Amino acid sequence: MKEKKVILNKIKEYETIIIHAHNRPDGDCYGAQFGLKDIIKNSFPNKKVYAVGEESDYVGFVGKIDKIPESTYEGALSIVVDTAVEDRISEPNYKLAKEIIKIDHHIPSENSYYADYYWVDTDKPSCSQMIAEFYDTFKKELKLTYAGALAMYVGIVTDTGGFRYRGVDRKTHEMAGMLLDFGVDVAEVDIKLSTKSLDEVKVKGYILMNFEQTEEGFAYFRMTKEIQEKYNLTNEEASATVSTLAGIEGYPVWALFIESDNEVRIRLRSNGPEIESVAKRYEGGGHAQAAGAKLKSYDELDAFVKDINEHLKNTKKPL
Ligand code: AMP
Repeated sequence: MKEKKVILNKIKEYETIIIHAHNRPDGDCYGAQFGLKDIIKNSFPNKKVYAVGEESDYVGFVGKIDKIPESTYEGALSIVVDTAVEDRISEPNYKLAKEIIKIDHHIPSENSYYADYYWVDTDKPSCSQMIAEFYDTFKKELKLTYAGALAMYVGIVTDTGGFRYRGVDRKTHEMAGMLLDFGVDVAEVDIKLSTKSLDEVKVKGYILMNFEQTEEGFAYFRMTKEIQEKYNLTNEEASATVSTLAGIEGYPVWALFIESDNEVRIRLRSNGPEIESVAKRYEGGGHAQAAGAKLKSYDELDAFVKDINEHLKNTKKPL
């Protein structure tokens, strides 16, 4: 409550507010950004509010990213949502603002303390839920419209895997219900989120026929540049295929190793053991059961697989 009140007062104090999020934005990132933008814009029509950063095709239907010059940051407030660490903030200009607020639900690490004010709650399954709760707490003095409700609903649905992941509780459903009251159509959202191109479907088949496994219970796939080209996948589409390896009996941990020009990005998932501690050793982090990390190249893949295997051997009881 205290943090939310501080944030509301800061929003009231500033004329210009710029909302940032993380690189390679996902549904939750957009949901929190465009949800908050909608709340501020409609509650305080005289303020200037921008949502900046990278664009997402997948969830582009919830809002359009603003392009602003550096000068906009003069005397402004930056609010960074859904972004655990400083180097993942998608627009480095956030630093030019007079003050910075961080609103997030990731586990903090050394590079997480980049703001002046913090509202971090790792028990929340999405940052969009936090923004919905922010609105709900002060709804007597705030306004929300359909556009913001749609954004936050999409954020909640995508980051909880459709209300299936741990962390989802009564409050999650209450907030989703509140957003539906603004006219969000659940079937329309589902169609937008679940429609795939033919190439995306075909590459899933390829992954299922060609993924690698270890005796310890790790299933993984090398998403090489060659495969991405063969199936005409954008980086976002290639990344989305991580769920293809979810839920295979005997393989509680799975990952996608996505090759780009200068690194291999790891999307690591688990439906049992905690895996964030391993991600942290490879310039990564995130949540106990969904984390990201990096390798310089596939040359480091064997070492990573060995570390995951060791971790699996030492993790006696699943969470
Ligand atoms: P991803 O596989 O990219 O969806 O990441 C899973 C979770 O881990 C997300 O909540 C990310 O924000 C977080 N994450 C991904 N990469 C990193 C990283 N390099 N450092 C810290 N957190 C990360």
